[in-house]
Amino acid sequence: MITKISSDAMIFRLMPERRAWKELNYENLKWNVEKLQALLPEGCAFMAVVKADAYGHGAVPVSSYLNRIGVRAFAVATLREGIQLRKAGIQGEILILGYTPPQDAYLLTANDLIQTAADCAHARALNAAAPYPVKVHLKIDTGMHRLGERAEHIEALASLFALPRLRILGMYSHLCVADSQEIDNVLFTRIQISSFLRTAELLREKGCDPGKLHLQSSYGVLNYPDLPMDYARFGIAMYGVLSSPDSALLDRVPLRPVLSLHARIAMVRDLKPGETVSYGRHFRAESPMRTATVTIGYADGLPRSLSGTELPALVRGRRTHVIGNICMDQLVIDVTHIPDARPGDIVTFLGADGHQTLRAEEMAEKAGTITNELLCRLHLREE
Ligand SMILES: *Cc1c(COP(=O)(O)O)cnc(C)c1O
Repeated sequence: MITKISSDAMIFRLMPERRAWKELNYENLKWNVEKLQALLPEGCAFMAVVKADAYGHGAVPVSSYLNRIGVRAFAVATLREGIQLRKAGIQGEILILGYTPPQDAYLLTANDLIQTAADCAHARALNAAAPYPVKVHLKIDTGMHRLGERAEHIEALASLFALPRLRILGMYSHLCVADSQEIDNVLFTRIQISSFLRTAELLREKGCDPGKLHLQSSYGVLNYPDLPMDYARFGIAMYGVLSSPDSALLDRVPLRPVLSLHARIAMVRDLKPGETVSYGRHFRAESPMRTATVTIGYADGLPRSLSGTELPALVRGRRTHVIGNICMDQLVIDVTHIPDARPGDIVTFLGADGHQTLRAEEMAEKAGTITNELLCRLHLREE
């Protein structure tokens, strides 16, 4: 924001220039929602997974925008994340995917949140502790062995439907190898799918209505789009990113990244042959070169493990890379071939500059992780 206070062109800014920042492209978010929704069968609704601050994108702005384009179902990991969305006025269903202690059950009702029953014991504890009926989705374990009541425990599951302070509105499970095309993993996924559908069927035969069914997250839909479900839970793909590089999949479903990541050049300097850069002296100039120091580091969420991987960066529409160890607040790039680079220039680590684009899949792979982790750990300290 800029305020002009006198005619002699003295300009006072209310906020300093940004040092390291994310930008969100909402057009791309809309594009991804439409492309992914189009993969789903008739009657299957889009559930937006906005846990971990919407994978680092900002849960409130992302969910508000999704509300405006008609998304009415959200998933978060924790009670606090759900309350944050309600406080911000988010409309529609909000499902908490993780465990909530039974003594917090009153907060579920007060904020109109839906709680996952992690297993039958959790469901009974919620029923016992809740002053008012709690909306729940039952979690079924079909092979992930993280949360969920075992799919074969039909009697125990059926008994939950008689509990007075549980309103069972849905039932879901989670696939653990839906991203893989390997035959073993495809077979395992198919067993998970049929086990989940069978559990729903057996409950119905006992006169229990399991409500809305859902099973797939991003890769579940990308690889098994046609399942008869009421919701699909989209996280990473909604943000326009795959967990790992897969250009064939991106050709089939052209997702557009929502987030871009930028910082600035603080100074440029010339190096003589033999001089080294940053902690540990791991980078050595072989010939005369020019470097630029950039205002972002691992405290902003750029993994230190990217040091020495020639992490690409864009300056003035040209491609270069990081040299030497990434520091807490700063890093150094090679600008030998970008002679016009100067202090204040924008450096792009994710997203586009001119005709060049950098994608999170490549950065995550270099860091030895998946984009899900990379993105949700980007905590730029000025935001
Ligand atoms: C995080 C999560 C999702 C979203 O997964 P993506 O792979 O990011 O689409 C879906 N379901 C559950 C239970 C989750 O924990």
